[in-house]
Order: sequence, then C-alpha cells, then structure tokens
Amino acid sequence: MRKEILLEKIFEEIKVCKKCSLWKTRKNPVLGEGDPNSKIMLIGLGPGKQEDAEGRPFVGAAGKFLNKLLKLAGMKREGVYITNVMKCFLPQNKVAEEQIRACSPYLERQIEIIKPRVIITLGNVATDFIFEKFGLQKHKHSISKIHAQIFKVSTLVGELTIIPMYHPATALYNPGLKETLREDWMKVGKYLKLKGFI
Ligand code: SF4
Repeated sequence: MRKEILLEKIFEEIKVCKKCSLWKTRKNPVLGEGDPNSKIMLIGLGPGKQEDAEGRPFVGAAGKFLNKLLKLAGMKREGVYITNVMKCFLPQNKVAEEQIRACSPYLERQIEIIKPRVIITLGNVATDFIFEKFGLQKHKHSISKIHAQIFKVSTLVGELTIIPMYHPATALYNPGLKETLREDWMKVGKYLKLKGFI
C-alpha cells in the first residue's frame, strides 16, 4: 500500500483518539507533513497553539525559525518529513510519561512507513524517545551535551543515522543560543551532503 494511504489511515485514527487526556484540549491533531519518501525525518515534541489551530507541524514562531535553519543546512522543508512525538496540543508545552506511552505508537508506525535513513530529533523529549527506541540509552544526555552529534544504529532495513538537535523554540526563549543552532544546522547540512542524503 502507498505510504500516503498508510499515513492517512493513522491520521483518521488520531482525529478520534482519546487514549490520553490531551484530546480534550485539542482543536486539530497534527500528524506531520512533508515528503513521505524522504530519507530524512524530523521529530519534535508536539503541537503548540498555532499548530493546533492549523493542524500542521512547526508553523508558529519556532517553525519559522526551523525553516530558516533547514535552509541554512541546504534542505527544503518540503523535501523532509516533519512530525512530533505527541499528536495533540500540549497546553503547557509539557508532557507526562503516560501521555508519551499512549501516543508514541503512532510515531512508531510513521517511522515504519517512512523508513527514514536519518532521524533528526528536536529537543530532549524526542531525543530520549528515539534513543531508547534504537538502543542508544547509554548515550542519553541533555541535549545541551549531545546536540549536533552523529549517532548510527543498525536496523532491519539498514543503517540509521540519528542526530539530536536543540528544539528551535529553545532559541526563542534563549536568544543567546540562536548562533549555536545556526552553526549546528550548517554542520549537519554539510555532513548530510557529504553522505549523499541531500
Ligand atoms: S496526544 Fe496522542 S494519545 Fe493523546 S489523544 Fe492525542 S493522539 Fe491520542
């Protein structure tokens, strides 16, 4: 079955999902967007207010900064697939363990469908989740320690590169980090180009 159809099926499920309390405060669940055939998948935390209003990932201020970072790295937003760990609006921008447990099977299915060669995690929650899923527990540290480092794991469908990055919203709360993020994305862009991913 085509990837788009399989993803649409997940979207139909999250529209009516009540597996955690976040269904009560969502307007629109956000599945993800971009090229499902891309080798590169970006994973953030969850929808904010603007994302909830539009039903699309990374469309608020952090999303606008992410678009600039992608451009700096030599990537096009429409050339990657962007999603989140959580599919419904996080009113306090915080998530509980049980909410991650309830929602993450959707993300796992997205990863199975898209079969990315590179996963770029944005922020601590997405990084911790992906590191645990792919057996990188011993490398788990705060994003401030491991940002822009390259990790590789073997999977049933081949080698997977995992790159943890600061969440773009971090630079909005802490403008002093903007330059670090720019440098990180330029570095990662060069690496991905060298390896033929972009
Ligand atoms: S956040 Fe995930 S698990 Fe919770 S209601 Fe939304 S789709 Fe369901």
